[in-house]
Amino acid sequence: MAETKYIFVTGGVASSLGKGIISASIGKLLQARGYSVTIQKFDPYINVDPGTLNPYEHGECYVTVDGHEADLDLGHYERFLNIRTTRANNTTTGRIYKSVIEKERRGDYLGKTVQVIPHITDEIKRNIKFLGNKYKYDFVITEIGGTVGDIESLPFIEAVRQMRWELGKSCINIHLTYVPYLAAAKELKTKPTQHSVKQLQEMGIQPDVLVLRTERHIPVEMRKKVALFCNVDHESVVECIDARNIYEVPLLMHKEGLDTAVLKKVGFSYKEDDINLTDWKGFVDRYNQAKDTIRIALVGKYVGLQDAYKSINEALIQAATYNDRKLVLNCVLSEELTEENADELLKNNDGIVIAPGFGQRGIEGKFVAARYAREKDIPAFGICLGMQCMVIEFARNVLGLKLANSTEMDSKTPDNVIDLMESQKEVTDMGGTMRLGAFDCHLTEDSNAYKAYKKMTISERHRHRYEFNNNYKEAFEKAGMSCTGINPETKLVEIVEITSLKWYLGTQFHPEYGSTVLAPNPLFMSFVEAAISNSKKK
Ligand code: GLN
Repeated sequence: MAETKYIFVTGGVASSLGKGIISASIGKLLQARGYSVTIQKFDPYINVDPGTLNPYEHGECYVTVDGHEADLDLGHYERFLNIRTTRANNTTTGRIYKSVIEKERRGDYLGKTVQVIPHITDEIKRNIKFLGNKYKYDFVITEIGGTVGDIESLPFIEAVRQMRWELGKSCINIHLTYVPYLAAAKELKTKPTQHSVKQLQEMGIQPDVLVLRTERHIPVEMRKKVALFCNVDHESVVECIDARNIYEVPLLMHKEGLDTAVLKKVGFSYKEDDINLTDWKGFVDRYNQAKDTIRIALVGKYVGLQDAYKSINEALIQAATYNDRKLVLNCVLSEELTEENADELLKNNDGIVIAPGFGQRGIEGKFVAARYAREKDIPAFGICLGMQCMVIEFARNVLGLKLANSTEMDSKTPDNVIDLMESQKEVTDMGGTMRLGAFDCHLTEDSNAYKAYKKMTISERHRHRYEFNNNYKEAFEKAGMSCTGINPETKLVEIVEITSLKWYLGTQFHPEYGSTVLAPNPLFMSFVEAAISNSKKK
């Protein structure tokens, strides 16, 4: 078997050009050609992981099956490639330094002065090669966060330069830039691209492939000019025009020849049409052809930022598409939702999702949403904090425990229906100490959860500190809220449902993380189906 090939994806000119989607698309195309592929992200910030970051910083925190709090791009990788990533797929500057400093304290550097070069760059290279060495993938794609020229990403760029020097043809660089259209001059401009490539060259990296993000088609002559100025083959200058949706990007990139440009660069032979994108195209067609809509309200406190609930949004789109519906997501800011305006803000929806979250702000609005859905029998899906809100609202308004709460919101509540696990009570370090990653869950037959998954044992990912308090389980079940998913080892409650309603279900776990384009999560499918039947009855 050939040795692992490394593809580095860097970005220039501006941030938010969609490096994550481009990396995932390259991965998808190589996978569709039969290669084994994984993708990893290197983030230049100093946080050890994004777990402590506010979603307004970098969007949602994604969680891998092995319990790593990761950059949301890992979500794109999993959803596009239908693969599972782990903590090895996401590294930050903070993690690199932490590991080097720990080694220094242990005396591993034998009295040497510890420096960015070689110690930090060696540690980066060790991390880059880890997955390739361990699993012998055909391709390891490494996305370097940030924009070339940033001070923070310098050690990563230097590590890429060294790897290219050491591995030669087995290592290629794809550089993503932006070609702006100046409306006043009626012209596309390539100068920013030229500058960005120069900057890379100054750091010792000659890009092999250029991907030019643009809003207008770039004429062939212009591409030739870029090729000439940037020392890149003409056919390796690939246009990436704004797509109608992210799922079309792999197809567009295939049409533009990005996959064959990569294969040529690493010295692999290929046949133009030896690629299987049938299932992917099937999804894209259904997505584009869906006419009827399904309207879902998403009640959360970060709804102002589109990336804050990325995985939920994507899981809903997947489920809607497989039901031949277009998703209309109505974001409702939980802080603004009250008993008085609930009808006005929620009534035009076929289903309601109550989002995950932390802390007090906006919590009352989530109780309002839970009550509204329960009383009006609107399909409702509570995820993590959303499930906890369903439980608290039920305790207050059905069990009559007026002061019931989670101890996260009120440490002195007389009815701590949601409380910290014993093991969490001693925790002082906030990083990576929640209940994280995939855990098994046993389902009760007859539940909507079981009907969705069609099996007794499932495994889904978690990210929380607080839990349903089992002392109240009997009271809840007697009053009609059943615990239909239980962790077989700890007996912790993972799913609650009001089985007398059409679809009223809360999960302590996050089913959205595991939902992919080709394998949508069963609970999201079942929720959307319930919302569709609800819409038909109106
Ligand atoms: N704040 C809640 C907890 O820690 C819920 C977390 C979440 O929604 N991810 O348990």
